[in-house]
Amino acid sequence: MSRQEAVQILQTHGIKPSYQRIKIYEYLVDKKNHPTVDTIYRELSPGLPTLSKTTVYNTLKLFHSVNVVQKVMIEDNEVRFDADTSIHGHFKCLSCGEVYDFPVQKNALMYGIPEGFSITDEHIYCTGYCQDCAQVDTTLLQASS
Ligand SMILES: [Zn+2]
Ligand SMILES: [Zn+2]
Repeated sequence: MSRQEAVQILQTHGIKPSYQRIKIYEYLVDKKNHPTVDTIYRELSPGLPTLSKTTVYNTLKLFHSVNVVQKVMIEDNEVRFDADTSIHGHFKCLSCGEVYDFPVQKNALMYGIPEGFSITDEHIYCTGYCQDCAQVDTTLLQASS
């Protein structure tokens, strides 16, 4: 994504595109790693010495309030952010801690929702082991047997 596109998306959502906000948004779009506030702060602060953790927190809160990002909360104590606000599933590997996207059918959760109920938020979370970690585990099992 170009700088111009990032600025445009923020402006479209009524966000004043300050340099720090643009950098945070670009980080989310480029890395696609579902970072936490801490991760973003740690990665961006060397290049942005004036950045504070509070600014990162407040910026993400602002982005979320206008749906520029979605929250990913697979575990109670960890809030991650995703600039891809389309509906997709998230898979967290219990071994390496990576969060992976996977496609889901639109309205996957609608089936069985009683009539008259309206959904405002839809999340599909899974935990388990990613391909790499599952392979490592198998190797360990074989070696010990
Ligand atoms: Zn893994
Ligand atoms: Zn995602």
